[in-house]
Amino acid sequence: MAHKIAVIGGDGIGPEVTAEAIKVMEAAGVELDTTDFELGGARYLRDGEILSDETLDELRAYDAILLGAVGTPDVPPGVIERGLLLKMRFELDLYVNQRPFVGTAPGHDEAHDFVVIRENTEGPYVGEGGVLRKGTPNEVATQGSVNTRMGVERCIRYAFELAQTRHRKHVTLVHKTNVLTFAGDLWQRTFDEVAAEYPDTGIAYNHVDAACIYFVQDPHRYDVVVTDNLFGDILTDLGGAVSGGIGLASSANLNPSRTGPSMFEPVHGSAPDIAGKNLANPTAAVLSAALMLDFLGESDAATRIRSACDDAGSGSTTDIGDTIAARVRD
Ligand code: ATP
Repeated sequence: MAHKIAVIGGDGIGPEVTAEAIKVMEAAGVELDTTDFELGGARYLRDGEILSDETLDELRAYDAILLGAVGTPDVPPGVIERGLLLKMRFELDLYVNQRPFVGTAPGHDEAHDFVVIRENTEGPYVGEGGVLRKGTPNEVATQGSVNTRMGVERCIRYAFELAQTRHRKHVTLVHKTNVLTFAGDLWQRTFDEVAAEYPDTGIAYNHVDAACIYFVQDPHRYDVVVTDNLFGDILTDLGGAVSGGIGLASSANLNPSRTGPSMFEPVHGSAPDIAGKNLANPTAAVLSAALMLDFLGESDAATRIRSACDDAGSGSTTDIGDTIAARVRD
């Protein structure tokens, strides 16, 4: 049966790279039934729609959502991020953000292979807080971080379950427990309690500042890293930078309970500077599609696509897509 996929190409290079991802999946013999949803900055500028409740309900009927990139320079920052990306994460309960990092960091000889699991629905991203006396010398701004036992536990549990499928079976918690003592204590206690259920799985803890050093100097120490929403946002950009760059970084926004579709997107943005020029590297979008296929139970096609992406070379967007598609077909 064909997988029903909602495709949100979005803005800038988004539609260019998702087109290559679909081409590659079809070359791998995966049956897809795709529907395009025109959402993003350009749509917002045209008629004001970001993501209405009706559109969200339509999306719920799909097996998965494949997203390119959203945002245009003429839309104020935050509008599309909050109204589209964060709304999908919260409303579809995409509580795990999974980002794999395979590559050879600058200055290293051997490739690393680790995954960051970022909590995706809580922390400072819930928008708790407010401002008082805005624009005056006495302005006050607060931004809270929400951490629930349920939210933290389901994310940590996912990380341990993922570790069971990997060769090294090791999970590192990254936080800032020495300063963020309330949230840090909840994360650490929950981590320790879940870890006790997985006695064969190795564990470690790093403060987030130390993790920034290790990501660059010693990325081989990591297998599965689990962390909160904000630390995960920052760390995964660093992970991308030491793993071959922005053109390769893929991500999955997962609802592991499968009460609705999960969403798959490259980490990079809409790159307006190179949009429409056939210059974007589509590999991150193709690798995001491979994560989608894993989640849809098409792991054979996903594995073939991943190996076809190895050293897919440089060139135009369509050239790289054609190269990967041809390798997948062989
Ligand atoms: P956003 O806020 O949406 O992340 P941004 O402009 O901060 O947007 P990107 O859109 O990811 O970030 O672009 C950052 C830089 O990386 C730009 O110079 C862009 O051209 C480049 N870039 C991003 N994605 C790709 C890609 N797939 N292939 C080649 N270059 C890319």
